[in-house]
Amino acid sequence: EAKAKGRNTFHFYSQELNAAANERLFIENELRHAIRDKQFVIHYQPQVDSRTLQVVGYEALIRWFHPTEGMISPTKFIPIAEATGLIVELGAWVLKEACEFAVRLANQNLKNNISINLSARQFKDANLVPLLAKIIKQSGVEAKRLHLELTESMLMGHVEAAIAQLHQLKALGVSISIDDFGTGYSSLSYLKRFPVDILKVDRSFVKDIPQDTNDMEITAAIIAMAQKLKLNVVAEGVETIEQIEFLQNNNCYIVQGYYFSPPVSEHDLPALYAKLNKTLVS
Ligand code: C2E
Ligand code: MG
Ligand code: MG
Ligand code: MG
Repeated sequence: EAKAKGRNTFHFYSQELNAAANERLFIENELRHAIRDKQFVIHYQPQVDSRTLQVVGYEALIRWFHPTEGMISPTKFIPIAEATGLIVELGAWVLKEACEFAVRLANQNLKNNISINLSARQFKDANLVPLLAKIIKQSGVEAKRLHLELTESMLMGHVEAAIAQLHQLKALGVSISIDDFGTGYSSLSYLKRFPVDILKVDRSFVKDIPQDTNDMEITAAIIAMAQKLKLNVVAEGVETIEQIEFLQNNNCYIVQGYYFSPPVSEHDLPALYAKLNKTLVS
């Protein structure tokens, strides 16, 4: 009886492990031809100035529409793309698409910033700077429109190499954002040494405002520190008017989150502008 149960338990776990391993293998195999087969699109989430309701920028967020599996979340496939090295090709595609999007906006007289997520592997790649230089040149984008989003953990490993890479990127004219700020090792002394321009307050601190007083203290402290270091600050994952009011009272005006809009396709941007305009007049 016990033995049978034990065997069943083992069988159960190994099935689960197999399922996870199979899923991983499936994603890895499918990723290999998904770019060629045009299964990816980029959605854009507005960053809004909460005082004027003007869209100041967009974050480019990749979406994978698989022909049989439907939408696969980037939280699922980006780590696999990263581990296999496929991120280098995928990331180059995102950079090119996002720059071409920025040019289409500029052609409509829309001077928005475009934030692009970089993965650790892309950031470390010796080819990143020449690649980005080439994409900027070929697309005709104004480099100052581009904000590259990195995470703290990507900077902390090899500090000197990271600083050198940041200087090279900044020499192209782009800005640097620290994404998910506060969730990694936030060493203040290090932060001062990195040539960064923007801190993005992680959603985990914003989501329980105004219920969680600790999160409110942390958010206010991050904003105050950003100001001291003369960095711009963007709040992520803003979903409620109470959160916007709290952020405004603490001098953070640029917000990104479902309150204004989820990430949307380029096709849906006119509807988004119309909605924001309506909010502004009413
Ligand atoms: P992230 O860069 O921190 O992006 C913010 C995530 O929060 C996005 O999830 C966005 O859809 C979601 N979000 C925005 N506002 C709200 C809100 O008000 N509430 C909630 N609950 N969520 C909100 P998404 O698009 O699923 O992307 C997840 C992560 O995948 C990103 O986190 C980023 O780390 C990574 N990622 C996405 N696109 C790319 C890409 O092109 N390259 C790389 N390297 N990573 C990417
Ligand atoms: Mg991001
Ligand atoms: Mg983020
Ligand atoms: Mg985040």
